[in-house]
Amino acid sequence: MSGNWNDMKFTFLGTGTSMGVPVAGGFKREELAHDPRNERTRCSAWIQSDSCSLLIDVGPEFRIQSIRSGIRSVDHVLITHEHMDHIGGIDDLRMYNYLRKDSIPVYTTESAVSSIEQRFDYLFGENKYPGSTSLDLKVMTAAMELDGIQITPLPVKHGSLDILGFRINSIAYLTDVKEVPESTLELIKDCELVILSALRWEPEHPTHLTIPQAVDIINDLGVPKAYLIHMNSFVDHEETNKRLPSHIRLAYDMLSFTFD
Ligand SMILES: [Zn+2]
Ligand SMILES: [Zn+2]
Repeated sequence: MSGNWNDMKFTFLGTGTSMGVPVAGGFKREELAHDPRNERTRCSAWIQSDSCSLLIDVGPEFRIQSIRSGIRSVDHVLITHEHMDHIGGIDDLRMYNYLRKDSIPVYTTESAVSSIEQRFDYLFGENKYPGSTSLDLKVMTAAMELDGIQITPLPVKHGSLDILGFRINSIAYLTDVKEVPESTLELIKDCELVILSALRWEPEHPTHLTIPQAVDIINDLGVPKAYLIHMNSFVDHEETNKRLPSHIRLAYDMLSFTFD
């Protein structure tokens, strides 16, 4: 049964880089403390429709994110890649297994599937620890529909690692990006909104786009609106927004919007 596409809600559960903001130990905490939007948990997103609840990535702060945003169920999980800031919360998905009384389908790359099986070995096979998270890992290679939501995998480069972004109906979510191949640009150029990662203003980073590089990609695409995510401790929310073109804004934790 198809869901109602006009009623979808997107929530940024977290918008910070791999170390979070502020980082462990509180470096730069005082400088950023004037604005709560500078407090960034690790990147993750929640999409709700009438018929389903879907997560993109499950980071180390997932438990906190799930409580503060009120996630009551999880039907599907999309994983962009296997870095710990994007999968560190897998253990806490187990509560949603208890609620649904079934395993949770997870869609990601082949490399992330084998990495999750290795690092969370106690969740799989003969080693499975009683009561631990049950995942149904699936390699995503083509567009599909999940409970009325159209999902298209968007291959991007994260340094040398091949990872996935996701197009969900009219929006694209791309995190930990260093390069967006031409074929992926084609898949998102008609999007109403693009969400793209941007680590810092400068200097250049081997595996992440800087803010100016992300702005160039968004401007070349010509999409009407974009949000930046995965920022580090050197990015102040208000100051950065003042320097950005008006159709590009920094996202912040718990920002939400509806879309179709
Ligand atoms: Zn990351
Ligand atoms: Zn990464």
